[in-house]
Amino acid sequence: MRVFKFGGASVKDPAGVRNVASIIRDHGDKSLVVVVSAMAKTTNALEKLTQYYIEGQTDAMMKVFGEVRQFHLDITNELFNDPKHSAHFHVKQTFFHLQRYIEEKPSGNYNYEYDRIVSTGEIVSTQIVSYYLNHEGVRNQWFDARKLIITDSSFRDARIDWILTPQAVKKALLPYLKPAENSAKPGIVLTQGFIGATTQGFTTTLGREGSDFSAAILAYSLQASEVVIWKDVPGLLNADPKLFEQTLLMPNISYQEAIELSYYGATVIHPKTLKPLLSRNIPLKVKSFFQPAEPGTIINEVSEHDGLVPSFIFKFNQVLVSIFPKDFSFIAEHNLSRIFSDFAKHGVKINLMQNSAISFSVCFDSDLIKTPALLRDLEKNFNVKYNYDLELITIRHYEKAQMEQLIAHHEVLLEQKSRITLQMVVRKKQ
Ligand code: ASP
Ligand code: MG
Repeated sequence: MRVFKFGGASVKDPAGVRNVASIIRDHGDKSLVVVVSAMAKTTNALEKLTQYYIEGQTDAMMKVFGEVRQFHLDITNELFNDPKHSAHFHVKQTFFHLQRYIEEKPSGNYNYEYDRIVSTGEIVSTQIVSYYLNHEGVRNQWFDARKLIITDSSFRDARIDWILTPQAVKKALLPYLKPAENSAKPGIVLTQGFIGATTQGFTTTLGREGSDFSAAILAYSLQASEVVIWKDVPGLLNADPKLFEQTLLMPNISYQEAIELSYYGATVIHPKTLKPLLSRNIPLKVKSFFQPAEPGTIINEVSEHDGLVPSFIFKFNQVLVSIFPKDFSFIAEHNLSRIFSDFAKHGVKINLMQNSAISFSVCFDSDLIKTPALLRDLEKNFNVKYNYDLELITIRHYEKAQMEQLIAHHEVLLEQKSRITLQMVVRKKQ
């Protein structure tokens, strides 16, 4: 049994939904779990809606609500000619429930409200896709992921209960995935990515772009034979095609390599996705929904191809801070522990650090609120120098020539090398 995951770009319009149906028909198995996320940029729109809801900006909120609703009604109208088809009713009903909810006063807990509201995007998207598949003869059973993915109550970044979730998943899905010979059950189940619920039934979400992770959780729970993430790129590329004219496809890399790449900032796969798959040795494929017959990339335990092509990862909007003890002491344990506790206090994640005898340099993502607050605290105990608007370039499996070409127009402020990874904090030359 396999798990297929389709992201927002794959179901951004009626043609996308039709394409998803044909991929499932042609490439799916009798026993298949399908995970679908919200359509197109719906999650962004519902985030805005939540913000207006919390701020009491009713007009702005209702405007976004109307747009999101109409977008889904239009897609439904195009997919189902028959005005009496249940899809129309259910999509309207989902938005009716949301409307009733946002007409009430918010609780004041932003993260809670966010999950309650934003999850609507995945609910309505899966309703449409599930109905459409059935309509096209690809019989499937829709499931509410809030009955399957059990989490704690850290709204917007919920942690999975790894005991209760596999139990709930197996109990609910296995009867459909392994139906008895004479059963009328379909063998294909379809559910949402990104969302779950607490044991009390409160909706939670797993963090933005979390539906890859959902697919991995389901695969882990069911001991699936593989996960396929269908994307608008041919597979894992060695650089972001938005930044590089020429990119190379990586046909096969190991779990470890993929974890490293996502750690350094490659955004193709949600970083949490790989660990549950690694622990059960479930391969992950990344394939193009435009060219479903192409092999794409496979991520598994095989590491011999890891170094074949160098990967380039860019992080923008970086700050580099150099910290000097005021009293001419060396950078040693007590200074480091002060520095780290300031970073922890402000929730600033370190991307790269380097120390010398008298200074300590740290590179991290710039943040309008966190960065000045952190700097203020650091300045209480240290002399601090900082640079904004930098880039952090990471090259895995680097070669000298590429690196020189890459930084021809940059000034390198800090460099760190290991055998496999080169990282540079750079500034564009004016
Ligand atoms: N719809 C969610 C998001 O846009 C989850 C996902 O697509 O993975 O972040
Ligand atoms: Mg998405």
